[in-house]
Amino acid sequence: MALPARGGRGPARNYTVGAWDPGARELTIDAVVHGDHGRASRWAGTACPGDAVGVAGPRPHWTAEPEADWTLLVADETGLPALAAIADALPAGHPAIAVVEVADAAERRPLPTAARLEVHWVHRDGAPPGPRGPLAGRVLALEPPPGTGRAWGGGEAAAMRRVRDHLRGPCGLAAEAVSVLGYWKHRDTDRWE
Ligand SMILES: Cc1cc2nc3c(=O)[nH]c(=O)nc-3n(C[C@H](O)[C@H](O)[C@H](O)COP(=O)(O)OP(=O)(O)OC[C@H]3O[C@@H](n4cnc5c(N)ncnc54)[C@H](O)[C@@H]3O)c2cc1C
Repeated sequence: MALPARGGRGPARNYTVGAWDPGARELTIDAVVHGDHGRASRWAGTACPGDAVGVAGPRPHWTAEPEADWTLLVADETGLPALAAIADALPAGHPAIAVVEVADAAERRPLPTAARLEVHWVHRDGAPPGPRGPLAGRVLALEPPPGTGRAWGGGEAAAMRRVRDHLRGPCGLAAEAVSVLGYWKHRDTDRWE
């Protein structure tokens, strides 16, 4: 897997490896198609067999911490593939909570795991994705379990900032136990931060 050798490096975007089959040389990603105003979204909406695409990576952002008493996972659709992979890798019986924002109930997906996972789906139900979505509010309303927790998140940058500030502040998690990342930035986000 490589970026194209000739023609220079084109525009690049981050996507989560959903699956990799070395035998078939097949890489699976799950891309949000959010309109034709983003190069990657436009590509995902029109890609055909035979189209060329360069790949660099992978670059892991999270490793499991078996000592944690519980794990919180937070995502919108862009972070959902990573959340699913992390949930799948959690130890059997490990207490975990996932809070996931999607467009509506049809966008829910199974989250197979051996962990004891409690999933809270939140729906935008017609509202646009971004900093004013319901995700951060739902996380702020959670009662954290007792013990030492860890948190991972991936979603819109301003929403993730609210989540991160809450977890490291009022929720009382150690800064290094919180890995909550902006996966994309809404055009209004500068105004909202
Ligand atoms: C580590 C990492 C892993 C990621 N994994 C995934 C993944 O598996 N699947 C996935 O879909 N995304 C994933 N993302 C997010 C993805 O990289 C961004 O959404 C990216 O901006 C899309 O590029 P684009 O060319 O379509 O839009 P851009 O050119 O970056 O942006 C153009 C416009 O589109 C808006 N926009 C960008 N993304 C969205 C969106 N999701 N919804 C609505 N508006 C948007 C922007 O605000 C901007 O106004 C990941 C990001 C990171 C950092």
